Amino acid sequence: MAAIKLDDSAELETRSGQYGPYVCLSKEYTNKTKGNQYRRCIFFSTDKWEKLVEVIPQVTEVLQQQQQQQQQNADDGQEWILALNDHMRLTVSKFQGKMYVGLHSLDDQQELVRSKCINLVDSCWQKLIKNTGKIARHLKKKQPSTTATSSSSTLTKARRGSASSTIKQYGWQSKDGQEHWYYSLKECQQDAEHAGIGIFQSKMVPPPQPKDLMTEAYAYLLRQAIKRISREQCFGCGINHGSQSEHMQAGCLSEWSDLVMTYYSDAVNSVTDFMIAELYCGLIDKLGLKLTEDPTKLAIEVQLMFPVHGDLTAEMKQPNFDYLLALC
Ligand SMILES: [Zn+2]
Repeated sequence: MAAIKLDDSAELETRSGQYGPYVCLSKEYTNKTKGNQYRRCIFFSTDKWEKLVEVIPQVTEVLQQQQQQQQQNADDGQEWILALNDHMRLTVSKFQGKMYVGLHSLDDQQELVRSKCINLVDSCWQKLIKNTGKIARHLKKKQPSTTATSSSSTLTKARRGSASSTIKQYGWQSKDGQEHWYYSLKECQQDAEHAGIGIFQSKMVPPPQPKDLMTEAYAYLLRQAIKRISREQCFGCGINHGSQSEHMQAGCLSEWSDLVMTYYSDAVNSVTDFMIAELYCGLIDKLGLKLTEDPTKLAIEVQLMFPVHGDLTAEMKQPNFDYLLALC
């Protein structure tokens, strides 16, 4: 379906995903310090979208009440909040005399995820309401029917069958018996050499799932972005200071977990679905696997499902893909 324009910057679109159809609300923003433009997206599963449609009359009532109050007392900053579910809230607020409807994603700690908050001016919100019928029809059309499901699962099976069923891993064993495994022979050789061991073994393993590989690519890009932003924002680097302490406090030498907390939202904003899809294709190629999914669609799903900064601070799994990702 073509996107429904709500105004020059905001649009609404229904898409098909692995877990059924969903609605994407997106809006273009300008980063005032850097001057570049980026798009924020919020995704609604069919259930979540239906919940939003359900509360429209309530929101309309609040908007009308607030508009009437506007004449008497232009009280900016007053906000009316409604929880759509555990991870999304809707707000009605007034800013500089204008009414806004906001949709805000929350993380597991109920904190706002800044990169997943969109405020719509009243006229955009009204346009969204006007298009709810159209969206509902699109969602229904995209809902896989029984016959469609069976044929699409045959297709998935056929594609899986044509992709390779195993890939090679390379490993070495340290003196204490611990095994170290890699997806690249070169990386294995380097590490083994470093450990002073020269005996290699290899084994065939099932290839990782596309979704897991896409998640690895996304996490890699986020980590790279956090490192880059921390250098850009570092006070010590800015004045080229020789003392380590000037590079702390979320500067380039801060604890990794602090950097993740501080720059996670900026990193999310700077990584696009296109970048993830492109890196994923490079990784697939390096692993000698075949492309079995639409990379852009999968990238969007992975962005949607990515656990907010939890995975970036956790210890990396072994073997990981960073060596190969760096070559892509
Ligand atoms: Zn620094």
